[in-house]
Amino acid sequence: MTRPSDPDHAPSLCQVVNPATEEVITTVPLATLAQTDAAVARAHAAYAQWRTTAPADRARLLRAFAAAVDADREHLARLEVANSGHTLGNARWEAGHVRDVLEYYAAAPERNFGRQIPVHGGLDVTFKEPLGVVGVIVPWNFPMPIAAWGLAPALAAGNTVVLKPAELTPLTAIRLGELALEAGLPPGVLEILPGRGSLVGRRFVSHPDVRKVVFTGSTRVGKQIMAGCAEQVKPVTLELGGKSANIVFADADLAKAAASAPSSVFDNAGQDCCARSRLLVQRPVFDRFLALLEPAVAALRVGDPADPDTDMGPLISAAQRTAVAGYVPADAPVAFRGSAPDGPGFWFPPTVLAPVALDSPAFTEEIFGPVLTVVPFDDEADAVRIANDTEYGLSGSIWTRDVGRALRVARGVESGNLSVNSHSSVRYTTPFGGFKQSGLGRELGPDALDAFTETKNVFISTEE
Ligand code: NAP
Ligand code: MG
Repeated sequence: MTRPSDPDHAPSLCQVVNPATEEVITTVPLATLAQTDAAVARAHAAYAQWRTTAPADRARLLRAFAAAVDADREHLARLEVANSGHTLGNARWEAGHVRDVLEYYAAAPERNFGRQIPVHGGLDVTFKEPLGVVGVIVPWNFPMPIAAWGLAPALAAGNTVVLKPAELTPLTAIRLGELALEAGLPPGVLEILPGRGSLVGRRFVSHPDVRKVVFTGSTRVGKQIMAGCAEQVKPVTLELGGKSANIVFADADLAKAAASAPSSVFDNAGQDCCARSRLLVQRPVFDRFLALLEPAVAALRVGDPADPDTDMGPLISAAQRTAVAGYVPADAPVAFRGSAPDGPGFWFPPTVLAPVALDSPAFTEEIFGPVLTVVPFDDEADAVRIANDTEYGLSGSIWTRDVGRALRVARGVESGNLSVNSHSSVRYTTPFGGFKQSGLGRELGPDALDAFTETKNVFISTEE
C-alpha cells in the first residue's frame, strides 16, 4: 500500500493486493477529510426522506437490494477471493449471507413495534425512532458479512449509513454500494467510504451528525472508539477480539470432535474473531485426541483460494504473517503442522502447539492466524477455570455426550456465543457478540433493531 505523507486533505490512492499472489489488483482512492464530511452530509440529508419512507416501501427496497446481491453473488465472491484470499467456498457463502441478512431485516420495517403501556388518564405509547446517520467501521477479515450486520438493521430501522471498509479489503463494500443504488435505494442512504481508519473512522467518531458507531476490529482500537464516542455520549456497538476455547471432554464423540477442530480454528486462515484457538482436552484422552487431530490437520488443503477444493488460503498481508510467525519461534512446542505453498503469497501452514504453558503468549493472546494451542484439563471446574482465564469472551465449543454437563459448562463459560457438539457461531437469526473485552452490545438476531433505535415515550391525555 502506498500513500503520501499527509493525506488528510490531499487525495491519495491505495493499492489493493491479492494476498495469494502479492499482485496489485487495482487502485482505490482513499477518502479525504473533506470527502468524509461531504458523505456524512449526503447521508444526513438523505435521512429526512429515508426515515419517513413508508415501512412497506423501505422493506421493498431492502428486498430489492437483497435480490441485487443475489444476482451478483458469484461476482462478489470472486472479488473477495482476489482481495481477501478467502476460499471460493467461503466467499460464496459470505455473498449469500449478505443476501440473507438483507432479506431478514427487510421484514423489520413493518414489524418495528413499540408498546402500549397502561397508564392513568390517557394513552401511553412508545416508538422505536431511528438515530440518524450510523457509521459502520469494518475490518479486513470478513468484509462482506460484517458490513451487512451493520448496514442491514441500521437501514431497516430508518437510519442512513456511512460505511468504511478496511483499507486492505475495500472491493466488496464498494460493490455493495453500487448494488444498493442499482436496487433503487436513494443516493445518500448508503455511502461507502474507503479510507484510513485514523482519518475516516475517527471522523465517524467525532462528527456530530454521526449518531452511532458500529465498530468491528481489534480491542485496542475499539477502546479508542469507545473513549472518543464518550465525548458526545454517542452509542457504540463493539465487536472485538477473541481467544475462544474448544473444550473436549473424555466422554465426547472424539472422532467427530477431532475431525471438526481444524475448521474451528483454521477457517479463514485463523483470521476469525471466533477462532477456537485454545483447545482444552480432558487428560485421559489427551494423547488419543492429538493422534486423531494430526491426520485431520494434515488433510487440510492449503493453497489457491480460487480452487473450489481449497480449505485454507493465505493470510491477509506480509505484516500479518510476521505477527503470526512471532507466536511460533524456533523453540515453540510444535506438535505437528499442515502444509503451505512456497513462492508468492502470504502463506502460513496450519500449526498445532501442544502442550503449551498456560501463561505463554500463544495461549493467552489473540494470534489471528492458523495457530492452535492445546492444553490438558482435569475436570469440569478446571475446564471452566481455564476457559475463563482470559480478558476475552466471544465464542467457544463444548464437546460431551452428557447433556447436564454441556449446559453447566455453557452457563459457566463467560462468552457470548457457545456451541455444543458443533462449532457454530453465526446465524443471522440469533444474537452475536462478546462478553468482557470481546465487545459491547449484540448484532444480528431478532433484537438487532434495538441497537439502531431510541425508545421514545409519548403520553396522550384523555382528560376532558
Ligand atoms: P483494526 O486495526 O482494529 O481495524 C478495524 C477497522 O478499524 C479498520 O477499518 C481500520 O481501518 C479501522 N480503524 C483503525 N484505527 C482506527 C481509529 N483510530 N479510529 C477509527 N477506526 C480505525 O482491526 P483489524 O486489524 O482490521 O482486524 C483484526 C482484529 O479485529 C482482530 O483483533 C479481530 O479479533 C477483530 N475482529 C473482531 C470481530 C468480532 O466480530 N468481534 C470480527 C472481526 C475482527 P484501517 O483499515 O485503515 O486499519
Ligand atoms: Mg489495523
